[in-house]
Amino acid sequence: MHIIGKNITGRSVEDFTKLLNVVHNSIEKNFSAKSAVEIALYDLFAQNLKTPLYKLLGGTKREFKTGITISLNCIDTMITDCVEAEKQGFGSLKIKLGDDYKEDIKRVINIKKALHVETSLKLDANQGWSKEDCVEFLNSIEKHQIPIELIEQPVKKGDIEGLKYIKEKSSIPILADESVFSPMDAVKILEKDAVDFVNIKLDKCGGISNALLIADICKLYGVKCMIGCMLEGAISVGAAAHVASARRETITMLDLDAPILCKTSLVSGGVKFDGADIKLSDGYGLGINGMIAR
Ligand SMILES: [Mg+2]
Repeated sequence: MHIIGKNITGRSVEDFTKLLNVVHNSIEKNFSAKSAVEIALYDLFAQNLKTPLYKLLGGTKREFKTGITISLNCIDTMITDCVEAEKQGFGSLKIKLGDDYKEDIKRVINIKKALHVETSLKLDANQGWSKEDCVEFLNSIEKHQIPIELIEQPVKKGDIEGLKYIKEKSSIPILADESVFSPMDAVKILEKDAVDFVNIKLDKCGGISNALLIADICKLYGVKCMIGCMLEGAISVGAAAHVASARRETITMLDLDAPILCKTSLVSGGVKFDGADIKLSDGYGLGINGMIAR
């Protein structure tokens, strides 16, 4: 159980734990659905205790910066998107790659040339390369002296040996995304020392409980985490921001850009997403006041 706080009685925590177990034992996989139900339960539980969720989970920090993801496209479009993101105040861009690795090298070289020196680049190959492609890619990036913060999931999710092979040859840190869905996945990959970072997503692991558990497992191995999201709305991505607050020592990178990609939000209150800035509400639970009528 990940809840702390002197106002919680043993019985209420027990009941809450039983509810979470019902969610997780109800059906195989279906992690997004389980995450949605879990988020609602955590929100209600914190509301009943009249405390913000992040505080219930042990967090204190309310303000964060997120990076933004740039979709895989032709080079010109990606450069335009990167420059626009930079203008909007994003200091960290995650560039989607995973095409032919030689084309990807051209993408990164040209994107870097178009941006300010201080703009940080993360790369996400989305399982698109072989381990040999990745090493070729890394050699070329090193030759061009392009600073890269990390490379996410260069090879297929089950290729843990491939990740380890790359990590041993790379000066750029390697982050696991699709390779880590569950807490047990985290243990397996970290036991093999196959990656430098782990990307946690609530929709991938089944919700807040497993996200906290994965962060705690990573802490045991001395590995830092990113917290990311799918194309989700402000409620579930907001819940991920509460998790980031609760495990701020381990979750050092936020990639929670989905709400700012939405044209409108139906949520009143809750976590505020404003460009690169994320601010947690101090309202009870997730701090959501209601839904905006359309
Ligand atoms: Mg990814």
